[in-house]
Amino acid sequence: MANQGTSSSTPLEIYVEEEDDSLMFGAESGWVEARTSCDHLASLSSDLAHIPTPDTPCNRCDHPSENWLCLSCKDVLCSRFVNKHMLQHFHQTNHSVALSYSSDLSIWCFICDAYLDAQVISQLRPVYETTYILKFGEAPPFRTAELTKVKDDQAGAKSIDS
Ligand SMILES: [Zn+2]
Ligand SMILES: [Zn+2]
Ligand SMILES: [Zn+2]
Repeated sequence: MANQGTSSSTPLEIYVEEEDDSLMFGAESGWVEARTSCDHLASLSSDLAHIPTPDTPCNRCDHPSENWLCLSCKDVLCSRFVNKHMLQHFHQTNHSVALSYSSDLSIWCFICDAYLDAQVISQLRPVYETTYILKFGEAPPFRTAELTKVKDDQAGAKSIDS
């Protein structure tokens, strides 16, 4: 009779380790792969600091929300899921780059037929930032050379070693 009484680890406690690498990059947030370059930015408006607010209705059909902003002429037009006025605008004017006023503020190029990465493409970043502030009332969480602006005493639990 073998007595193996010493090892008494409970085999029922199986620890499932979840992969959470994606948390660092937000890869799970439904973000479609976006292009990091686009050759169709020459016609972008030179004054994207002043843009219509995100609740501007479609200029053609008055569709009230989730419209697109043409980044060439700042026209606000509805999506292909409504009356396709942004798409028509592209066909009429060849203005190919538009920013979505829906919650993800994605930028689409009709010629590339792809989303553009506003964090990487420097010409798109200012308007993305402006729109984000208009929509959410705060600056987007870019991680850049402009490091942690610690606001007042909001640092809270975070201790920052300098
Ligand atoms: Zn393009
Ligand atoms: Zn419309
Ligand atoms: Zn346009």
